[in-house]
Amino acid sequence: MESTFYNHCTECKWAADKNDHMTTELAERAIEHAIETGHDIESEAGDSLGDRSGDP
Ligand SMILES: [Zn+2]
Repeated sequence: MESTFYNHCTECKWAADKNDHMTTELAERAIEHAIETGHDIESEAGDSLGDRSGDP
C-alpha cells in the first residue's frame, strides 16, 4: 500500500511531495526549510486527509 506523505509550508508556497524524494528525505528538506526560513512546516500522512482549512 502506498501512503501519500506530504510536507508543505504554512507560510509560503514551499512544498515537497514524495514523487521526487524519499519520505525521510522529505522530512529533512522540510526541516531544512523550517530552519532556513523560520517557517512552519505541516506534514500530512495521507490516508485520512480531511478537508479542513485551518484558517479562521
Ligand atoms: Zn516557507
